[in-house]
Amino acid sequence: MVDIKANLKQLRQEIPENVKLVVVTKTRTNEEVMTAYDAGERVFGENKVQELIGKQPQLPEDIEWHMIGPLQTNKVKYIAGWVSMIESVDRMKLLRYINKEAKKHDRVIPCLLQFHIAEEETKFGLSAEEAEHILNSKEFADMKNVKICGVMGMATFTEDMEKVSSEFRHLSNIFGQLKRHFFPDNTDFREISMGMTNDYKTALNEGTTMLRLGSVIFGPRKTQ
Ligand SMILES: *Cc1c(COP(=O)(O)O)cnc(C)c1O
Repeated sequence: MVDIKANLKQLRQEIPENVKLVVVTKTRTNEEVMTAYDAGERVFGENKVQELIGKQPQLPEDIEWHMIGPLQTNKVKYIAGWVSMIESVDRMKLLRYINKEAKKHDRVIPCLLQFHIAEEETKFGLSAEEAEHILNSKEFADMKNVKICGVMGMATFTEDMEKVSSEFRHLSNIFGQLKRHFFPDNTDFREISMGMTNDYKTALNEGTTMLRLGSVIFGPRKTQ
């Protein structure tokens, strides 16, 4: 039996107070999610829209839901009314749709730009150049219903922590560069979302501000 509460308690001792924890609930039951909720967690993440919109109405309203996975533009409308953050913005077209749908709800949706820092081609995300292109555009300047709060990335899945470290450092450098060029006086731009079960200790060493953790809390997933 996995002791979710004990795992969270242990984690909370390892994570400094200024680092946010996103509890990743993909494939987990409502009961498992509620165990984390009852332990005091309020920020949860899903990587599939289908699962996100399935869970959200069945669980407490004060949960802050983060979308952390690949997002199709035609699905944005299902989450725009309530999602707390979209961490996986990887193209202008997606940002455009988020802005449009957020406007319909009279909201400003916090977003992170996702960067491709890993070796694997399956891990998606922007390059620094692509991000600069977006942030320099007149179209972006005119968007009133999205707020860029930082960057997100996934490292290569490997035992080689030197490699993971250098990928996280790369993300951190991109963050610094964007901060200087585009957000020098903007206190909203402050998040570096990096670190999963396999590499969160390395991420803490490399200055993460937001960990996305599933398996270390709930145990190994049977699928995905
Ligand atoms: C599944 C997932 C996580 C959490 O993975 P664990 O290894 O279970 O901690 C973090 N980020 C993203 C984008 C994910 O899809």
